[in-house]
Amino acid sequence: MKKILIATKNQGKVEDFRTIFNKDQIEVISLLDLESPIDDIEETGETFAENAILKAETIAKKMNIPVLADDSGLSIDHLNGRPGVYSARYAGMEKEDQKNCQKVLSELEGVTYEDRTAQFVCALAFAIPEKETIVKYGTCEGHIANQPIGENGFGYDPIFIPIGYDRTMAQLSKEDKSAISHRGQAIKELTTWLELQKKVGF
Ligand code: IMP
Repeated sequence: MKKILIATKNQGKVEDFRTIFNKDQIEVISLLDLESPIDDIEETGETFAENAILKAETIAKKMNIPVLADDSGLSIDHLNGRPGVYSARYAGMEKEDQKNCQKVLSELEGVTYEDRTAQFVCALAFAIPEKETIVKYGTCEGHIANQPIGENGFGYDPIFIPIGYDRTMAQLSKEDKSAISHRGQAIKELTTWLELQKKVGF
């Protein structure tokens, strides 16, 4: 079975990738599965792509295996794209999902539904030792809800209503989320590219 190392310790993301890759019989391991842990890589980039490339290339070099890294976040139009690359630590500390959601909701207080437009964005970097890194993107458009609803997913899922839905991302099943999510879209782009490589053979 083929194996991909996902450069994340975020269990929510690992589950998202597993749901997608398991269909193709590819085993997904993450930084959580390594016997000798790798230090966190500081996300110093100004864009999602810069951060994804930094993570994938650093770990691929260190471990000498192909590594897939994503950097993702929420971009809210009314907040000029914030929280953006600061999504994970918007309320201060890393990974305080509820506080991050509350901060967004208070910043959007009084803003109408039509003006609460937002996108989840994902940049996916696939670094193969000795080869040029591939970068693919995915987005998912939606609106910010008035309050958190739903128990599934992670991060801003409870306050994000995808276009065409009347439920938040946190009310969708893992499979339904993967079918429309920014991460799902970026992975589709990447797998299409990899298929093409196989067919054309260069
Ligand atoms: P990263 O680990 O630097 O990519 O940080 C991404 C942050 O963006 C996460 O900690 C979440 O707050 C948010 N985020 C990214 N993808 C999703 C998603 O699929 N659902 C909800 N929040 C997400």
